Amino acid sequence: MSLGEFDLIARYFSRPTRRSDVLLGVGDDAALLAVPPGMALVAATDTLVEDRHFLRGSPPDSIGHQALAVNLSDLAAMGASPAWALLSLSLPEVNESWLEGFASGLHALADRTGIELVGGDTVRGPLVVTIEVLGFVDPALALRRSGARAGDLLFVSGTPGEAAAGLDVLRELLNSGRPTDADAVARDPLVRRYRYAEPRLGLGHALRGRATAAMDVSDGLLGDLEKLCAASGVSARLDLDRLPVSQELAGRFDRAACEHYLLQGGDDYELLFTLPVDGATALLPELHAACAVTCIGELTHGEGVTCVRAGVTVAVPGGGYDHFR
Ligand code: ADP
Ligand code: MG
Repeated sequence: MSLGEFDLIARYFSRPTRRSDVLLGVGDDAALLAVPPGMALVAATDTLVEDRHFLRGSPPDSIGHQALAVNLSDLAAMGASPAWALLSLSLPEVNESWLEGFASGLHALADRTGIELVGGDTVRGPLVVTIEVLGFVDPALALRRSGARAGDLLFVSGTPGEAAAGLDVLRELLNSGRPTDADAVARDPLVRRYRYAEPRLGLGHALRGRATAAMDVSDGLLGDLEKLCAASGVSARLDLDRLPVSQELAGRFDRAACEHYLLQGGDDYELLFTLPVDGATALLPELHAACAVTCIGELTHGEGVTCVRAGVTVAVPGGGYDHFR
């Protein structure tokens, strides 16, 4: 290793403290953090493993972005305000240009969302990135998966499916063996959606105390909706005709492929949420100000998810991504 562990941390991960609630950040045995009185601490962690969560050779800034974005998305889904992050980094070698890119992707998203890196761990091993995020929320307003009731309307943010399509675009290029113009690939809007997902923090805030249930879609809309239904003890009727197909997807794939990406594709990190019918319409302008949202169905009594096309129930091979299946 050209650069020692301590120099590496100092150079790439230790920055002047930005938040006044960070009493002690990187450099001591642990961070000292001041939680605002009356707030609940919200904690989440997610790990990215090379070849499983990102492709070998991915631009390092996209890995830094993605590692933080997937965690921020969990805070968004709880309606929480991001505050602090810890980074555990396992690196096969010290590659300074890789670290430079990785840190810039991570810090750019951190600065934009007001979260501060306050500690972590650095070890030698296979490329694995684990981030833990901490935030806070008024516990009375926190969003959970479990509060949806029969009769509530079901919404999704943004245009899910694009990230999964972007991943397929990348995989196809890799498998084709054709020479690729890396810059052109990097500019592809679908590839960008996969690499630089935007956590829906503003929408999460707007939903606080209003949505009866919420979760982020990490493993596919259908599978994640099943989880929300199970947590709430209700069933959902999903209207396939109302799925928000992006222009980009519609322009490049047929209807069946678009539907497949929308229902089964992961990695978009959109929010899935439910609103009581009363007041939903009045709330929409405020939600739209944070992010486009689409009503895609409703909650009913029963269990599981029913998909409907042109008023007729259709079977959709379902299930989200499961690491152990
Ligand atoms: P210790 O051996 O006491 O756990 P370390 O040498 O692992 O301490 O870490 C020294 C300091 O650097 C700690 O404050 C730790 O939180 C921080 N740190 C280590 N690795 C990282 C990293 N990848 N990103 C941010 N902070 C880190
Ligand atoms: Mg340590």
